[in-house]
Amino acid sequence: MEEIPVKVAVRVRPLLSKEILHNHQVCVRLVQNANQVIIGKDHVFTFDFVFGKNSTQEEVYAVCIKPLLASLTEGYNATVFAYGQTGSGKTYTIGGDHIASVAVDERGIIPRAIQELFHHISEHHNINFRVKVSYIEIYKEELRDLLDLETSVKDIHIREDEKGNTVIVGAKEFQVECADEVISLLESGNAARHRGTTQMNEHSSRSHAIFTISIHQKQSAEYQNAAQDSIASKFHFVDLAGSERVAKTGNTGERFKESIKINSGLFALGNVISALGDPKRKSVHIPYRDAKITRILKDSLGGNAKTVMITCISPSSLDFDESLNSLKYANRAK
Ligand code: ADP
Ligand code: MG
Repeated sequence: MEEIPVKVAVRVRPLLSKEILHNHQVCVRLVQNANQVIIGKDHVFTFDFVFGKNSTQEEVYAVCIKPLLASLTEGYNATVFAYGQTGSGKTYTIGGDHIASVAVDERGIIPRAIQELFHHISEHHNINFRVKVSYIEIYKEELRDLLDLETSVKDIHIREDEKGNTVIVGAKEFQVECADEVISLLESGNAARHRGTTQMNEHSSRSHAIFTISIHQKQSAEYQNAAQDSIASKFHFVDLAGSERVAKTGNTGERFKESIKINSGLFALGNVISALGDPKRKSVHIPYRDAKITRILKDSLGGNAKTVMITCISPSSLDFDESLNSLKYANRAK
């Protein structure tokens, strides 16, 4: 049986205390054993995985990410991205922010993946591992290096090497030796993400953040041999820009143009994923070149790469329209 290139999960967060306080009603429910989400009275969607308000971070990790981490260590590329409107739980799920201050049980995907990777490394003494991380932000179709803000956006470019690997020329890659080192780079990138912007939430909800772990591995005994014998693979963790529609937020002028650029990335990504899921995909053109986000992820979406999209949903009936849009987007991705 052929592998499905993109698995789609939906995660419905619980009502937040302020929503409970304001008496928000819930308009989304799950039929767990059928992997279905029902929104409103009669919109039913079926996905690969569904997670409800009682699903834990551990459960989401074990079901969605563990298999990707296993393929990373087997030499395949992997991508997870969180999609959804601002406030739906993307950052909570990806686990990119405030790691040090979050209780261990509440930690999201990135810290869990890092921990598991270094555990794997510690159990394989016969293999030499080299681990590197980078952290990039795409804002208004421009790339920023979150690990080195000195780098001008003009000096960062996306290239494809002769083997078809995507490389971000000009972006810093830090070699790391332990999980704590990765976490502190991630935290410093997060601080950079918020710096230099007047409204931090505004900014982070309008940009895509891509945290990447690259590994090179080689049998110790052969380590003296030529460098090309090593296996290289990478895992992208993507916290996408908020998917909310332009019209609803009533944006005008500069803001409006910004929203168009942001949504064009999400639109392009939707098209790529949908083309990958097409049974005739061998003959279908996959439009990777349409946006920066899809160009960066090109070698890690489709082909031998494993991809999981986690669509985050608010349960509140006030968010009905956005949640329905997100479910439709996710449904196209299957
Ligand atoms: P986004 O990144 O999509 O804008 P956040 O991840 O910041 O959304 O989540 C918005 C709020 O909801 C945060 O306060 C977060 O802690 C909370 N939240 C999100 N998902 C969950 C969940 N599954 N369980 C508990 N709280 C959640
Ligand atoms: Mg966020």
